[in-house]
Amino acid sequence: MELNEIIANDGPCECGKIHDSLLKKTVICEGALNKIPELVNEEGAKSVFMLADGNTYACAGAKTEELLKNAGIIVKKYVYPTKEVIEPDEKAVGSAVMHYADCDMIVGVGSGVINDIGKILAALTKKTYMIVGTAPSMDGYASATSSMARDGLKVSLPSKCPDIVVGDLDVLCNAPMDMIRAGVGDMLAKYVSICEWRIATILCGEYYCEKVANMVRTALSDVVALAPKLMKRDKDAVKAVMNGMVLSGIAANYAGISRPVSGLEHYFSHVWDMRGLDKGTEVFLHGIQCGSATAEVARLYEYLKTVTPDKQKALAFARSFDVEKHNKAMLEFVGAGSIAMAEQEKKEGKYDVKMHAVRLEKIIDNWDKILKIMDEETPSYAKIVEILEQIGAPINASALRKDNEEIAKTLIFSKDIRDKYVASRILWDLGITDEAIQALYGYKAE
Ligand SMILES: [Zn+2]
Ligand SMILES: [Zn+2]
Repeated sequence: MELNEIIANDGPCECGKIHDSLLKKTVICEGALNKIPELVNEEGAKSVFMLADGNTYACAGAKTEELLKNAGIIVKKYVYPTKEVIEPDEKAVGSAVMHYADCDMIVGVGSGVINDIGKILAALTKKTYMIVGTAPSMDGYASATSSMARDGLKVSLPSKCPDIVVGDLDVLCNAPMDMIRAGVGDMLAKYVSICEWRIATILCGEYYCEKVANMVRTALSDVVALAPKLMKRDKDAVKAVMNGMVLSGIAANYAGISRPVSGLEHYFSHVWDMRGLDKGTEVFLHGIQCGSATAEVARLYEYLKTVTPDKQKALAFARSFDVEKHNKAMLEFVGAGSIAMAEQEKKEGKYDVKMHAVRLEKIIDNWDKILKIMDEETPSYAKIVEILEQIGAPINASALRKDNEEIAKTLIFSKDIRDKYVASRILWDLGITDEAIQALYGYKAE
């Protein structure tokens, strides 16, 4: 289904929600840049403020500026004077704000970071916002949050969903190959997110919409079908990835939660980002990390299929669990970002033995159903590896130079990232986290 058709169908759904994509329009095609003046005119804007960086200005910003000026539209701009990756932090936001000039509309030209900052600027100024995507690298194009580093910590801030998303295939096909691979990785993540969303409806009674899940599944299978052509920068394949990225944002807006687009694999990536900020460990593009982590989660699901839940063992494990010791180890491994994680647990109470006992009953009663959902939604580890190999992306966490201890600890602390039920929480609830990391990574817990 074309994205604009989906947007046109915003409204009430059988799930009980009124779905709102938060988008007015998307234009993803060859030569899409040429349509920008018309899109600006349609908004009644006479002047725009353009935000770009050295790279994105060169590949699409300069042309956009020229087209707008030729159409009689006033262009004021700020181009970050760098071709390096911009940290999405106070300094980057401050520069954008301090260079901002009054206008009728804001136009971001870029991908993740430029869009995240553009969304913040649009939220502050309450202006119409258009993003001109330069790479199909992440699924934040149509989201209303910005992934930022604040006070040295990774946070997701409420901002403004773009009104218009433009993706010119001539530009997107020429994006750095790693950014295209990252888009596929962020898309493969949806195998896990939809799976865990369904499991959470059983175990936590969470809201679920089959229509939204299906939208994401369709976009994902389009990407996987065309993945073998991506290395040749095939236009249909790149378009499928960009469509998937924008549709994911729409799906999350429809559901009003991140469940359709992010699960345990995203938490692996968050742990690695937090370690990067705190300890300077190696960090890769968001989607590259998510793709590799999806392979790890597929491996975990395969392990879970060998498990028979043992109620007495699980209850004894929960009773003997030492939260203080756990938090200390988490601070050591994850860094300062873990303080907020430990704080959140006080509200959440996932280690509360009474609540655990209730969840455990549900897990045991529904164990076959849970395994069936994993089978239905998520391909095997080998299949995920095969897809990642086709596009020349790192196939698992080891390929990101993580050693077994680091992967094992990432799995342990992934369950503490947010108040969301993910597969690493099943391990804890069954009292088998230590066995799992021993089986999967040969790592013996201290
Ligand atoms: Zn619905
Ligand atoms: Zn993502």
